[in-house]
Amino acid sequence: MLKIHNTLTGIKEEFKPLDQNNVHMFVCGPTVFNYIHAGNARTFVFFDVVGRYLEFKGFELNYVQNITDIDDKIITRAHTEGKKTEEISLKYKTAFIEDMGVLKVTAVNNYALASEHIAEIIAQIKGLIEKGYAYIAPAIKATGADAVSAEGNNDVYFELSRYNKDFPNQYGTLSGQNLEELKESTRVEMEANKLNPHDFVLWKAQNYSYEPTNESPWGLGRPGWHIEDTAISEKYLGQQYDIHGGGQDLMFPHHEAEIAQQQALSGKVPFVKYWMHGGFLTTKSDKMSKSLGNFTTLRDLVARFSNHPAETIRLYFLSAHYRSPLAFDETLVNQASIAIDRIADFLARLSKASGEENPALDEILKLRADKFTASMDDDFNAPAGIASVFELIRALNPLITKNALSAGQAESIKTFFQTTVERILGIVPEPKEQSIPPEILELVEQREQHRTDQDWSKADSIRARIESSGYRIDDTPYGPLISTK
Ligand SMILES: [Zn+2]
Repeated sequence: MLKIHNTLTGIKEEFKPLDQNNVHMFVCGPTVFNYIHAGNARTFVFFDVVGRYLEFKGFELNYVQNITDIDDKIITRAHTEGKKTEEISLKYKTAFIEDMGVLKVTAVNNYALASEHIAEIIAQIKGLIEKGYAYIAPAIKATGADAVSAEGNNDVYFELSRYNKDFPNQYGTLSGQNLEELKESTRVEMEANKLNPHDFVLWKAQNYSYEPTNESPWGLGRPGWHIEDTAISEKYLGQQYDIHGGGQDLMFPHHEAEIAQQQALSGKVPFVKYWMHGGFLTTKSDKMSKSLGNFTTLRDLVARFSNHPAETIRLYFLSAHYRSPLAFDETLVNQASIAIDRIADFLARLSKASGEENPALDEILKLRADKFTASMDDDFNAPAGIASVFELIRALNPLITKNALSAGQAESIKTFFQTTVERILGIVPEPKEQSIPPEILELVEQREQHRTDQDWSKADSIRARIESSGYRIDDTPYGPLISTK
């Protein structure tokens, strides 16, 4: 039974889709004004695993991710560089799709661009105005060199107080915000034409000539960020759907605004049944974000580890629980690369199996395979799942060394790696043997056995023998790594 930690309720709940076997899932995509940072990439890899696992469980998955290609950050960057906004958004949208390919992200069915859904966005805003949840405000007159006349152009805002009256105890529930505290918060900037500081923008009037515009019933302008997402999700997933994911930083105000918009429009509660939020990639104690100026892009990370397969980056991202922070630390990426080498070596040596049928194999394999799926069923606990994969490798390595598996059994182990581990996690590399002689590997297995038995002095003496033969042994969370000194 699959359980998901639902941010909305704060507890793990049994996963039951709204529509039989069909799962509708949405994850907030990138704003394409730059290469994505490694923290975003971690979120997207994790939700790829969620999608892959749902399909593995036999669900029909419809997974939509939006791409924000209309946004102030894109406009600012384009203006600063003297380029068209379309040029900037196209460049980074293309780069994002390439990056997802590099990371083996395969579960997304549909990447939806905001710029291709203007009609749906306008229809949602119109609906909100008609129902009394949004109001039109004359544009604030812009000043400066490129300012355009605000004549005939209007902003549209979502009216939070009206929503709160009709939908009590909804806004703020997801992010655990107290409405009274919110009201007193002084950090929210108050545009002069808003009724209340927490009203958020649905449509922005054009202020400067370099801004991209669309025609609308409210004059020339562009959509706000929150409404882009609900217009897209309603089109492809409906007014209510199963899973909405994103980084923890999007919980407030973005996801609260999405809930308010869609519930006000449809009158149906809840908008989304299960909300899932991924933790941050952290440097020191700060979350990794562009605004803090300490970000490293995914491309930087991939370039730094360019002699390692992409599986290394995926395993690194998956090595901490998705709701926990993960340190942006090269040591951890190195450990992941060691682990990937260990899988590659294991699979290569497995191909040489030519022994007798081993009566113990079925149980060894079943135990770890069951543990693997039990971990994934428990709120997608990938680190625990990965641990059981390495437990399996550790249990089978001595049998390979002793040639105590048949060729057919080796095939069924490989099938488990391909149809379960690779299909769900995407961390299985091409087989590649490490150039370590069998007698050294034999010693490594003996040492592992002594460590399991907590016979530390015997383990240490074997370690000394391995090192005096010119090899180095490093113990990692994924098992021992052997290399030449
Ligand atoms: Zn979003």
